[in-house]
Order: sequence, then structure tokens, then C-alpha cells
Amino acid sequence: MIALVDTHAHLDYIEREGNDMDTVLSAASDVGVSWVVNPSVTPDKFPDVLRLAERFNNVFAAAAVHPTDVQDMPDEQWQAQVEAMLDHPKVIAIGETGLDYYWDKTHIETQHRFFRTFLELGRKHDLPVIVHDRDAHEDVHRLISECPGVRGVMHCFSGDAPFAEMMIERGFYISFAGNVTFKNATNLHEAAKSTPLEWILIETDSPFLSPVPFRGKPNEPSRVRLVAEKIAELKGIPLETVAEVTSENARKVFRPCLS
Ligand SMILES: [Zn+2]
Ligand SMILES: [Zn+2]
Repeated sequence: MIALVDTHAHLDYIEREGNDMDTVLSAASDVGVSWVVNPSVTPDKFPDVLRLAERFNNVFAAAAVHPTDVQDMPDEQWQAQVEAMLDHPKVIAIGETGLDYYWDKTHIETQHRFFRTFLELGRKHDLPVIVHDRDAHEDVHRLISECPGVRGVMHCFSGDAPFAEMMIERGFYISFAGNVTFKNATNLHEAAKSTPLEWILIETDSPFLSPVPFRGKPNEPSRVRLVAEKIAELKGIPLETVAEVTSENARKVFRPCLS
């Protein structure tokens, strides 16, 4: 039996859509998923995310404000709310944060301010930062470079091979999601081929971005196996190797307390 880690799944969304979480997580463990990271998008979702992490041994949480939600945050409160979360033993990362110029081009300064704060928090608490980057590669790289010593994950990687290399130089892992299985995702295929396996993570970003052959349908953690299979195919190596090394990478970056 192989062991996989889904390093990015919005389980709270899946639950809110009326799914039974025992069923969802046992389907995942049936295909080898050993643990899952559930990032938060806004402080009002923290209670749901924490409740799931407390209920399931193999579910861990991350806390931050998603870049498309920053414009709605009341000043002062959010930072204290996130910092309060970081004391919880199941909170193992800052996330998700980052920059999104695809959905929101009008609050770029606010996005930068939040992203900088979360990078600083990651450095201060020695926690990995889960970075969302949509059409913002250059600024993501620049802001991370301005915070030396910070470490983390480029979640749902959407750049090309040279950008992956630049982020690895900054200490960031490259996390591939369901879009790496898309036929026309040539840049991602090249990035997966050239990125050393020691720097690769896998994720679903469920309920979004289902891999082929479930494209367009709601996603769930069990489908991280399809991402692992695609990486194995692209690199021409056994699935077992992808599973073993990406799981070890996930342990190194997130340092979960696995009992
Ligand atoms: Zn994201
Ligand atoms: Zn996400």
C-alpha cells in the first residue's frame, strides 16, 4: 500500500456542501492518503477548520486570509485572529496567503500588505507559508525575496520550469494539483519533469480543480492519487517512488505530529 499526502484540501468547503466527512476521508485512506492539510481562507472559517482538525487525527490546519478575501477584512482584528490560531497544536502552517491578480486586480496594495504580514509571521513562528499565486509570479517572488529565511509551499503551482527553479532557490516546495493532469498544461508538464522530486508536493485543492477524468466535477482528497500518477508518468518513475518521496517532503516542510 502506498502512502500519499494531500497537502491542500478545503475540507471545510466539502463539509459545507453537505458531504459526510467520514465517507470522504475513508475514501481517501482507501487509496493511500495518510494525512491532509486543510488551509483556511478567512477567520470566520477558522472554527470549522479547527473542528475538523480536532475530530480527525490525520487532518491538520493552516491559518491565514486568502488574497481574494483581504479587501473584506476589518483592520486590526484579522492579525490577532490568525496569531491566536497558531498556538493550536494542529495548526501547522500559515495559509493560504499570496497574490491573485486573476480574480482581483483592484486591491493589489492590500494583497501585498497581507502577504508581507503572513510571510513575516511564518518567519517569526518558523512555520511554512502556503502561497497562492495566480498571475502574480513576479511579485510573489519579489515579496518572498524581501523576507529572507521564510520557507513554504507554492500551492497549485501554475508557473513554468524556470519559475519553479527560482522558488526552490528561495526554499519553497512546488506543489502540483489536478491541473497537472490537463492535456494542454504543457508548462506544468515541463515543470514537473525538471523539478527534482525532493522539492515536489502533491495536493488536490479540493473541492476545486478535479484532475482528469473528473475535470469540472467537485474534487476530493482521494483524487490526489491521480496527481501522483501523473507525476510518475511525466518523470518515468514508479508511483511508489513518487508517493514515498513526496510524503517525506510533506513531513519535512509541515512537521505534523503524527501519532
Ligand atoms: Zn489557492
Ligand atoms: Zn486553496
